[in-house]
Amino acid sequence: MEQVDVAVIGGGQSGLATAYALRRQGLQPVILEASDRTAGSWPLYYDSLTLFSPAGYSSLPGVPFDGDPDRYPHRDEVVAYLLRYADRLDADIRTGTRVLEVRPDGDSFALTLKGGTQLSARAMVSASGIFGRPHRPALPGLKSFAGAMLYAAEYRAPEPFARQRVVVVGAGNSAVQIAAELGAHAQVTLATRHPVRFARQLTLGRDLHWWLTRTGIYVLPVGRFLRTPPTQLVIDDGRYRAAVTAGAPDRRPVFTGADGSKVTWADGSAEDVDTILLATGYRPDLGYLTPLGALDEHGHPLHREGISLTHPGLAYVGLEWQRSLSSNSLRGVGRDAARIARHLAAHPTRS
Ligand SMILES: Cc1cc2nc3c(=O)[nH]c(=O)nc-3n(C[C@H](O)[C@H](O)[C@H](O)COP(=O)(O)OP(=O)(O)OC[C@H]3O[C@@H](n4cnc5c(N)ncnc54)[C@H](O)[C@@H]3O)c2cc1C
Repeated sequence: MEQVDVAVIGGGQSGLATAYALRRQGLQPVILEASDRTAGSWPLYYDSLTLFSPAGYSSLPGVPFDGDPDRYPHRDEVVAYLLRYADRLDADIRTGTRVLEVRPDGDSFALTLKGGTQLSARAMVSASGIFGRPHRPALPGLKSFAGAMLYAAEYRAPEPFARQRVVVVGAGNSAVQIAAELGAHAQVTLATRHPVRFARQLTLGRDLHWWLTRTGIYVLPVGRFLRTPPTQLVIDDGRYRAAVTAGAPDRRPVFTGADGSKVTWADGSAEDVDTILLATGYRPDLGYLTPLGALDEHGHPLHREGISLTHPGLAYVGLEWQRSLSSNSLRGVGRDAARIARHLAAHPTRS
């Protein structure tokens, strides 16, 4: 069986930043990436997506984002940036390599890859993101709804929904952005448990990320004290609040029932709906760790600030609120990766 030093599972921004940090500690990372490129889930995000963070606040360690630091890059620029970043990395990157399961192997880890190949790793970092595991909430009647149902992860562009009656469920950035984009093509309701909470993109001419960085809020290590992540604020340059105020989409409490093609609202009215789109978040995509016993009953990792509580040679990078608000962001992931790399460099089984 091939032996590697540190296996990094996932070749998106988290895996790449991890490999960069591991190299700085003198470790030898091998990135195992299921897809055929090293841009993580970015190529799968919807077509019109631009970053909510300006370019100046969207770089991984060592390679600044090109161009005007105040602009908000498009999704495809992030893809190009990550591919460039991977090219410059001094790491063994294996695309088309999905990890199916991980088992204990003495002090090491035995990884089974798609196709049956086995790999032994002294240490391991899970950086496989959340996009592969959209969360499906228990909503009344959802199972009986006969119309189309999809996750935000499957949404690409508004045109296929033209003239439809669409209900978007969720109150976060993706929900509001998709509902506003669809609102120009379809009759859209944004169904949320609570009113949407907006955060201004610009205050006194400065981007929100400038303020979060200046005040230290961005990196405040409060993640481990949060039992559930706080409600996401919708970052808004004014257009999303305006769209909701104008009723496209119209905002309502979540439906109280669904059956066949009908959805029932809190006021008792019922109407035909073509599509329900769930933009209700994600969960860590770590099923391959189940045989290791590293997860709780919900499939969440047992960890403290990214360091496994069950296996000292195992760590995580890119979890939401892993350490701070910035943990799952382009800019913040490098900071967490550096801590993890220092921990693994001191890991006792190091040869
Ligand atoms: C719609 C949207 C917009 C966002 N906008 C911003 C923004 O403006 N600014 C910002 O900083 N952040 C933003 N984020 C948050 C975050 O930066 C992204 O979600 C980012 O893609 C997370 O990177 P990641 O590497 O952790 O995970 P991913 O990008 O999901 O990459 C994980 C990789 O792991 C691979 N993988 C999964 N399972 C396995 C396996 N078993 N074996 C091998 N490989 C595997 C996947 O193929 C994938 O390539 C946004 C997120 C979303 C969803």
